[in-house]
Formats: sequence, structure tokens, C-alpha cells
Amino acid sequence: MNIMLFGAPGAGKGTQAKFLIEKYGIPQISTGDILRAAIKAGTNMGLEAKRFMDEGKLVPDSTIIGIIKDRLAESDCKEGFILDGFPRTIPQAEALELLMKEMGISLDRVISLNVPDELIVGRITGRRVCPKCGASFHMEFNSPKVEGICDYCGDKLVQRKDDTAETVVSRLDAYHTQTAPLFDFYTERNVMSEVDGTKDVSDVKEDIFKILG
Ligand code: ADP
Ligand code: ADP
Ligand code: ZN
Repeated sequence: MNIMLFGAPGAGKGTQAKFLIEKYGIPQISTGDILRAAIKAGTNMGLEAKRFMDEGKLVPDSTIIGIIKDRLAESDCKEGFILDGFPRTIPQAEALELLMKEMGISLDRVISLNVPDELIVGRITGRRVCPKCGASFHMEFNSPKVEGICDYCGDKLVQRKDDTAETVVSRLDAYHTQTAPLFDFYTERNVMSEVDGTKDVSDVKEDIFKILG
């Protein structure tokens, strides 16, 4: 099954991706996680991407498309994958479509997590993430079993550098101008399903499971 999770920054894509990995046994492909790993490794690509990420701007399409091309070619993607945070622009979606066509596969379902802007700032500023496995938690709405520790791998949780109230403004702006048009793109292709992302984490999970079956 090839799935894409769609929604504003902080809508809950990463959180839900972890449940889908457990249920379907397919990998999560988060371009944000891949970029952060490149920054940590100090690669040229990472250093270049960092400038955009710190300002809450999108990283150029050519960089992102290159990342995805390499990642989808890996053997663990054969049974399917969960795209999280990609595509984020129309050119990225078009490149993905072409790439998947070449691979003889297609997107089975796009799940839109609908969350209004007013709720996004609180979600992002209260987010704590695992630097090792990429899991995200929330200090108030989705706290880990042990304070400050990742439920999945036991690593110490941290706050992302770009998870500030100031950066959220430009990230939401990038979302509305560059990413939101993908809603119509995938609706036209009859693969779009919407869920109410304001519900509790476990209710959103159930709604997604119902759609995917
Ligand atoms: P995204 O991957 O879309 O950027 P995350 O999954 O990292 O979003 O979620 C953003 C923040 O909101 C995290 O702190 C997460 O724990 C929290 N969160 C996720 N889903 C919900 C929900 N349904 N209700 C409240 N908080 C949530
Ligand atoms: P969030 O879901 O909270 O926005 P991500 O981890 O998905 O966080 O993305 C963090 C940053 O990485 C984005 O603000 C952007 O700079 C960059 N990024 C991630 N994925 C993409 C993409 N598909 N296209 C362009 N930039 C991206
Ligand atoms: Zn972890």
C-alpha cells in the first residue's frame, strides 16, 4: 500500500505515520527526517537545506526530488510506503507521479489531516521529538509514558530548532501558498480522503484505519 499523509506543519502526520508503520509494516518516508539526518551528518546537501529550514521556508524542489528518487529505490519500499511531508509543491507531486509511473506503481490513498491554523502554533511549540527515531510527542496533548523519553526507542526527547512561534508563521504561509494546492491535485485523481485532525490522537488513528481498511 502506497500512502501519503497530507496536512499543515503540526497537523499530526508524523504521529499517525508511526501507527501505520506498526499496522501495515511499511516504512515512513519523512523528507523532514531525511533532511535533519543530512544536517547532523554535515553533508553539503544538509548544510544547504538548513538555511531554508531555519527560516521556515521550503527546501528547493530539485533537492527534495533527488532525495525521494533515491529513497523509493531502496528495497524496503517494495511492499509500500507512507509519505510524510512530501510532496509539498505541485512540481514535487508531478515528479512523484512520473517516478511512480516509471516504477509501475501509484498512490493508493492520500489522507488529509484537517487542522485549523489557530491550533497549529500550540501543537508546534509544545512538540518534543526523538532525535533517533523521529517520533513526536506533545508536552500537553500527547505526552510520552516517561517524561522526556521516547516511547519507541528510549532516547531523550528534544525540541526542534524550527519549532518556534516565529517560524510557524512562515511555515504556515509556505503551506497555504505552495502546499495547499495539492489538495485539488489529489482530489482530481480520486485518491483524496479527509479526516478531522482536531480529534484526539487515538480517534484520528481510528478514522484513518477505517479509511485504509
Ligand atoms: P506533523 O508531522 O504533521 O508536523 P506531528 O505528528 O509532529 O505533526 O504533530 C505535531 C504536534 O502535535 C506533536 O507535538 C504531536 O504530539 C501533537 N499532536 C499530533 N496529533 C495530535 C492530536 N490529534 N491532538 C493533539 N495533538 C496532536
Ligand atoms: P513539519 O511537518 O512540522 O513542517 P517537517 O519535518 O516535515 O516538519 O519539515 C521541516 C522542514 O523541512 C520544512 O519546514 C522544510 O523547510 C523542509 N522540508 C521537509 N519536507 C520538504 C519538502 N517536501 N519540500 C520542501 N521542503 C521540505
Ligand atoms: Zn525514538
